[in-house]
Amino acid sequence: MAPKPVRPGECPQCWQHAYDKSIHRALKPGEDCPQCVSHMISGCPFLTPKKPSRWW
Ligand SMILES: [Zn+2]
Ligand SMILES: [Zn+2]
Repeated sequence: MAPKPVRPGECPQCWQHAYDKSIHRALKPGEDCPQCVSHMISGCPFLTPKKPSRWW
């Protein structure tokens, strides 16, 4: 299966976790994903740049 490319302005991790269900499938039932929880609490540390082809 081809992973969806991250939309500009979105968090790659949250994006990946939202679309790749296998990441959360590794968790026990009722267990929270620590990575998603940390992003929910303190926000996303990194967002995909709006124009990835033009850094400068
Ligand atoms: Zn997650
Ligand atoms: Zn995030």
